[in-house]
Amino acid sequence: MTSPAEEAGRNARPVLGEPEIEAVARVLHGGQLGHGPETEAFEAELSRFLGVPDVVAVGSGTVALHIALLAAGVGPGDEVLVPSLTFCASVQAILAVGARPRFVEVSPRTLCVEADSVLAAVTPATRAVMAVLYGGRAVDLSGAQDVLDALGITVIEDAAHAFGSYSGAERVGATGALTCFSFDPIKNLTCGDGGAIVPRDDREARVARSLRGLGIVQSPAQRARVTSYSVEGFGMRAHLPALNAAVGRVQLGRFAEVESRRKQLWRWYEGRLRRLEGVALVDVDVDRTVPFNCVVRAPARDEVFRAMQAEGVGVGVPYPPNHLQPAFAEWHRSLPVTEAVGGEILSLPFHPAMSDAAVDHAVSALEQAVRFCREEVSR
Ligand SMILES: *Cc1c(COP(=O)(O)O)cnc(C)c1O
Repeated sequence: MTSPAEEAGRNARPVLGEPEIEAVARVLHGGQLGHGPETEAFEAELSRFLGVPDVVAVGSGTVALHIALLAAGVGPGDEVLVPSLTFCASVQAILAVGARPRFVEVSPRTLCVEADSVLAAVTPATRAVMAVLYGGRAVDLSGAQDVLDALGITVIEDAAHAFGSYSGAERVGATGALTCFSFDPIKNLTCGDGGAIVPRDDREARVARSLRGLGIVQSPAQRARVTSYSVEGFGMRAHLPALNAAVGRVQLGRFAEVESRRKQLWRWYEGRLRRLEGVALVDVDVDRTVPFNCVVRAPARDEVFRAMQAEGVGVGVPYPPNHLQPAFAEWHRSLPVTEAVGGEILSLPFHPAMSDAAVDHAVSALEQAVRFCREEVSR
């Protein structure tokens, strides 16, 4: 058994065990490693889980966003609204299709974009909004939907954090929106690496499958039976390999457990943090959300981060704002809220295998760090 201090030493980690190892071994023994029956079984199981007609599995969350943008017809000259406070992958996917990011403010309470901030940022060049479901929380843009529809602006959900969360009565992905998931090593469900797109209709599903498979019309199974194949357009090699799909299938089978543990852990943090003065918990709407992380806003964040790190606690900063990154300097604009919260956010150790005692350990380390840094400042 690991100690609470050891468990709190990791900011995030997947829960993996013998079943995942056996599934990988089964695929290795089978000798079919590319896109094949294993990936298609995973797609069918994801569709059933979400309650949607179809899901397209791909190699990563980043390429899911890239393909979704292409499938939505976003390209050179277009502008995509995106929160600055997201993983840089969201922005890189926009650049990958030749479009420009236009950075949007987030709510300091949820770290998500809101209808008002989105509408305020729309320009004549806007073709899409990439809504990031920060921490797993569903983003409600219903207040902007009529205007966005009238302007022909597509909403693409970056639901990398939000696998399993609910948006109203439906799971994220089942609301009719064009939704992208990530199954990278630290996400709610992992394939090692992987991702998925929930298309809005059959045409979009066909386009997404073509884009992930080098533009080849036939599936690998169909190709094995004919002497030629047909390439219908641009495509990438972005399929989800069988080994990764096999891990994802096992993870999906144990998801109910992970879902309830993530909620319990978040609530445990919430209870402990309530008594901690000066530290604000970023709300994830835990009744509907499968929390991806536990993020607080702390004064003197950099000092608190260093003090906790020195104590061996796995803290993180999700994320340094993108409009301040050198690569995205061309699209910089003044975003005072993002800049303020960007200097305060701190993620605490959060993974399903950690115990309540590990949460207590992390919270006392935070309490001590905040007190220590306050004394330093007043001295
Ligand atoms: C993880 C993540 C991605 C990218 O997913 P990968 O599977 O790592 O490529 C995109 N957006 C956000 C918000 C993420 O957290």
